[in-house]
Amino acid sequence: MKSFCVIGLGRFGSSVVLSLVKNGHEVVAIDTDAKKIDDYKDIATHVMIADATDERVLKNVEIDKFDGVVVAIGKNVQASILTTMIVIEAGAKNVVAKATTDVQIKVLTKIGADKIIQPEKDAGERVADNLAHPDISEYLDLSDDYSFAKIIVKNSKFNGLTLFQANLTQDYHVNVAFVKKADGSASIGRHNTKIVLDDVLYVVGTKADIEKFSEII
Ligand code: ATP
Ligand code: ATP
Ligand code: CA
Repeated sequence: MKSFCVIGLGRFGSSVVLSLVKNGHEVVAIDTDAKKIDDYKDIATHVMIADATDERVLKNVEIDKFDGVVVAIGKNVQASILTTMIVIEAGAKNVVAKATTDVQIKVLTKIGADKIIQPEKDAGERVADNLAHPDISEYLDLSDDYSFAKIIVKNSKFNGLTLFQANLTQDYHVNVAFVKKADGSASIGRHNTKIVLDDVLYVVGTKADIEKFSEII
């Protein structure tokens, strides 16, 4: 069990609180809005009606003692930036901040937030990726160029081949890291790993190579 502090109970922050609590973690939730706090008083471990831009508030909750702090104030850019700054200056670990604009991302990065989330933008990109490449079911960005994706074998040309025979690294510049079978069995990708129709391949490569590969596999 870990302990987290979530500042701001909008749609994003409240969803973070619910998921953390559901997974058995301790959560302190802070919001200026008494109504929001009332809604979460029986869900979060501890709730506080307070303005997080007031330095005394975060000092009192010992913000540096949490395993992670989520600044889920979005629209009020000034409050978001000020709060994140106070949280980081107080020595908090794993600071995640929600942003709504590109300028806000720049500032939050500069201040030193460990992770910045733009829920609407991130969800929009996922939807767009999924519409354009329905056969790639999940993308995880590994760097600016590289991604990790989940792709299902649909082309009978590859049915029954080992990864060595399929020659995917040479022909398509992708590496199969993991293969999951319909019967639930699984293995890491090696030269002698056999792939059959409907296997789920977990593939590493550039986004462009993965997209090309998804068209033929
Ligand atoms: P979402 O999209 O997640 O609903 P949002 O981007 O619309 O959020 P807001 O609704 O502006 O963001 O803020 C989220 C929550 O943060 C609100 O419940 C608001 O009361 C709270 N909040 C705003 N400023 C502060 C502050 N200084 N201290 C504590 N809580 C704050
Ligand atoms: P060994 O000596 O154990 O047979 P090797 O060094 O000859 O192995 P590897 O490089 O392991 O061969 O694999 C041979 C070929 O199999 C690679 O060139 C590649 O085409 C394919 N291969 C192996 N592992 C993967 C993988 N994870 N994803 C895709 N292709 C793979
Ligand atoms: Ca495709």
